[in-house]
Amino acid sequence: MNMIDAHIHADTRPYEDFEKMVISGIDTAITCAHDPLRMSKSEVVLDHFHRLLNNEVKRAKSNGLNLFVALGIHPRSISPNPELVIQKISDLLENDLILAIGEIGLETASSAEKNILIEQLQLADDLNRKVIIHTPRTNKKEVTQITKQIILENIDPSLVLVEHINKEIVDDLIEHEFTMGLTIQPLKMSPKEAIDLLKEYGTEKFILNSDMSSSPSDPLSVPKTVHQMILSDFEKEDIDAVSRKNASEFFNI
Ligand SMILES: [Zn+2]
Repeated sequence: MNMIDAHIHADTRPYEDFEKMVISGIDTAITCAHDPLRMSKSEVVLDHFHRLLNNEVKRAKSNGLNLFVALGIHPRSISPNPELVIQKISDLLENDLILAIGEIGLETASSAEKNILIEQLQLADDLNRKVIIHTPRTNKKEVTQITKQIILENIDPSLVLVEHINKEIVDDLIEHEFTMGLTIQPLKMSPKEAIDLLKEYGTEKFILNSDMSSSPSDPLSVPKTVHQMILSDFEKEDIDAVSRKNASEFFNI
């Protein structure tokens, strides 16, 4: 079965993880910009982008993994003079490897975070590009409400993938036109919790991902969740929807 892991952080992972993913049936993944360093200057953020687009795509490819990229200013990665980064993002979007602006969003909902988020959403809306929205672990419900309001005011909701959905926030988002990411990661959600959510809300809007990073992570969390779905008697089509088709259609890959 071919699968897509729609949200990873390739630059934090060893070479061998890509091999494991491909052996387990993941042929495509999307690596998102994040907060790997203290972004003391905007140039550090741009070097992070350069690494994703060049080194990481190559490392994945030599293991047979198709790696695409999302670039953006993560709320924990706001450098001084972020305008320079925003300008560079809009230039880089011409590159076919870049599928979205992301991951972007709010962490503490400070005014600096909000301003950067709004700018990036407006850029994506103007250019008709997809965005990948981070939701935090701390004050999740409250910060997600603020994030949702900002999204609805600044971008066509069909361009938006909201990440790290859980029981706490799903009801606030499900009636909107967003696509929703389920992150199966030890500190976020188990395969069993993902399955319970899919049983209750259906598979139509959801995309599975590992968000594998420097936090406790499992590069095989998508195939492991698929395995549990098979054991829980999900229909083939529903399994394919959350592990490949919905991501393929949303990102046009
Ligand atoms: Zn992430």
